[in-house]
Amino acid sequence: MRMADIAQLGNRIELVSMDRHFHDISLGLYERPSAEGVPEYLVHSYARTDGVGERIEFVMRAMRILGEMAEAPGGRLRFACGDAHRAACKRLFIEAGKLAGDVLPEPRPLAIHDKKIGCGISAVSLGGGVYGVAAESEVEGAGRRLKAIAGGLRKLGEMAETGADNEAAFACGGAHDALVGLLLVRALNVRAVIREEDAAAAQGVLAAPGADNV
Ligand SMILES: [Zn+2]
Repeated sequence: MRMADIAQLGNRIELVSMDRHFHDISLGLYERPSAEGVPEYLVHSYARTDGVGERIEFVMRAMRILGEMAEAPGGRLRFACGDAHRAACKRLFIEAGKLAGDVLPEPRPLAIHDKKIGCGISAVSLGGGVYGVAAESEVEGAGRRLKAIAGGLRKLGEMAETGADNEAAFACGGAHDALVGLLLVRALNVRAVIREEDAAAAQGVLAAPGADNV
């Protein structure tokens, strides 16, 4: 790959260091602003393995579905609202990389069963980019649990507080149902996400090209 092409990739913001569904290659998520300054994302691999193009295409299609992302000219992905939603995009990339490349996913629903309180939890779009987390029934400890889950959404989606314990808001003011559905699964156990991120960061450091770690 020529230097000019490398520069055009943009900044690598996330790494899947071993794609276990495709020959353990590494995949990078790259961000670059469009001419209008809208952050756009691209998945790229330096691997030369046969079929790597199809694998990348699959991961990007899965990201589009799971995050309701739009296709930008040149095959990059962006959010229709024009915001970066960088943390959520990284999460989309990681989740898409966990999928085997034969079946495209469905967008995740805004409802999920929470084992911790034994009750269904749903996220409801309240307009203006605000989502409220609610429990299906009045179970003990639900209030604290909803607060924790909304906090998880805020962390994972770089969402803002609204003043209500059980809410999280996108600064763009737009609706991102698919993203919230994706993040909701992870928001039930934010600690596991943090552990996973730490492990991935450590691996990324070890796997960095040219790293002097021998
Ligand atoms: Zn947005």
